[in-house]
Amino acid sequence: LGKERELQEANTSLEATVAQRTAALTQANADLLKLATHDALTGVFNRRRFDEKLAECSLLFQRTGRTFALLFIDADHFKRINDTYGHATGDDVLVQLAQLIQRNTRATDFVARFGGEEFAVLLPELEEPESPEVVAEKIRAAIAQAQFAAVDQVTVSIGVGVAELSDSNASALIKRADERLYQAKAAGRNRVFSTTQTLSAD
Ligand code: GH3
Ligand code: MG
Ligand code: MG
Repeated sequence: LGKERELQEANTSLEATVAQRTAALTQANADLLKLATHDALTGVFNRRRFDEKLAECSLLFQRTGRTFALLFIDADHFKRINDTYGHATGDDVLVQLAQLIQRNTRATDFVARFGGEEFAVLLPELEEPESPEVVAEKIRAAIAQAQFAAVDQVTVSIGVGVAELSDSNASALIKRADERLYQAKAAGRNRVFSTTQTLSAD
């Protein structure tokens, strides 16, 4: 009888260990999956997932004609922030920028860190009267008005591109949004530039 109880106890403890290990593995898998698709610093989607999502949007657009837009959001004079306050503070600013962008977009929009101090937002469900420029301007204004610890004020420039049926691939849209971003920088920063209209901070 004692042996039987011993065996039963050993079995129960083994089952508990297996359950524990399984839970740990499940968690590790979830962590890995998150790492594969998200930016470790800011928590928004990473460049890899952005490329996939952009390809999906482009295919869907070619098939259904459902238009979508791309915003390129680049922090203004970010190098200066790093040089003045240090890299760690620069990192904190990037985290806060990501939060502000996410808070000023919809759950159906797609926010990613494109690289360095640049974010990309896909707006797949464009709904009248909310044009991509209006969304971009809302983000720009929210960031310009926000208080950043230590740094105080941070601004961004935004380039807006809208998908066109004549685009042979997604890089045409990227190029368009990037050109607008460059123009927004050249025009003095803290601005939204798009193919259709130009909004400025002044
Ligand atoms: P502009 O207004 O023309 O965009 O000027 P800028 O200084 O923002 O642009 P520039 O491309 O000259 O510098 C970008 C800086 O962003 C340089 C780089 O060290 C910094 N940076 C890139 N990634 C990170 C990061 O993950 N953390 C921090 N703290 N800084 C980063
Ligand atoms: Mg910059
Ligand atoms: Mg940049």
